[in-house]
Amino acid sequence: MDVRNCRGCGKLFNYVSGPFMCPACREKLEEKFQEVKKYIQENPGSNVASTAEACDVDANQIRQWIREERLEFASGASEISCEKCGKPIASGRFCDQCKAAMVNSLNNVYKPDAPAQPKRRDGSDGGPKMRFLN
Ligand SMILES: [Zn+2]
Ligand SMILES: [Zn+2]
Repeated sequence: MDVRNCRGCGKLFNYVSGPFMCPACREKLEEKFQEVKKYIQENPGSNVASTAEACDVDANQIRQWIREERLEFASGASEISCEKCGKPIASGRFCDQCKAAMVNSLNNVYKPDAPAQPKRRDGSDGGPKMRFLN
């Protein structure tokens, strides 16, 4: 058994997994999370700073929830960016393009440099066609 100091209240507790927090502080944090979530729903124009102030919670904690994809602000207000390309994102760790690129590179693991195939048109602009009347 692992004994740690709680990150929230400093009390020693038996650490099992997850954040270094005693069960009481985890419960408090979960209540805070619900409060923050509600605040964001009721204030669509909010951002990390205004939410932190309104709910009396640490901005870094809010960003962590965003990274965990538990919270989402309107794009741009979350103040977090894609860990790959740096583009502002609403939640999680990567933007949609980078996520898609990663999925593709997993699918194309045997031909990573294959160029994208140009889409073929379906012949509607093909060569001259004979028209038979009658
Ligand atoms: Zn605690
Ligand atoms: Zn990206």
